[in-house]
Amino acid sequence: MLALEQKILSEGKVYKGGVLKVGGFLNQQLDVPFLFEMGKEITRLYKDAGVTRVMTIESSGIAIALPAAYYLGVPACFVKKSASSNMSGEILSAPGHSFTHGNDYTAVLAKEYIKPGDRVLIVDDFLACGGAITPMISIVEQAGATVAGCVVAIEKVFQGGGDAIRARGYRVEALAAIESMSDDAIVFKH
Ligand code: 5GP
Repeated sequence: MLALEQKILSEGKVYKGGVLKVGGFLNQQLDVPFLFEMGKEITRLYKDAGVTRVMTIESSGIAIALPAAYYLGVPACFVKKSASSNMSGEILSAPGHSFTHGNDYTAVLAKEYIKPGDRVLIVDDFLACGGAITPMISIVEQAGATVAGCVVAIEKVFQGGGDAIRARGYRVEALAAIESMSDDAIVFKH
């Protein structure tokens, strides 16, 4: 998505440890019209995939999952990174790892929010090593549902998570795929 690549080039900042800061439009501050443009692009990619539900993980994935679900016309749910007292009933869970916090966690979703037979589109803001998408795939499959595909705003290809998930046979799309990045240059893969 050319407009996203341009926004990354003009607003993104490369941090130590292979982290890209895009807090001005995707993380801390949200550019809502632009998020809806990304939702339209996700819908263009997945409109024929029979998606019945969008899934993301708290918290940064929610902003992009919402417009995707809106334009696909399906419900959305988000996986939490720890169980809380407002969760009840049967809970599905899987181990996850946070790239930005560097810690392990247990990803959880109340079973009532995903149905056997659902075709789930997994959405997130970033794909680095796959520690967020992997537990979502597990939760979808534990529920007897199918992964229709995964889509992220920004894949950092050089960190390998996307290709590892593709190698398992899942469709993975990125609105912008970064092949390499440094203080001086961000190079996209097309
Ligand atoms: P992964 O789980 O694939 O290793 O990393 C993806 C998750 O970590 C996303 O949910 C995202 O919130 C966070 N993340 C990974 N890399 C970056 C990055 O470069 N910048 C930001 N802002 N978040 C990232």
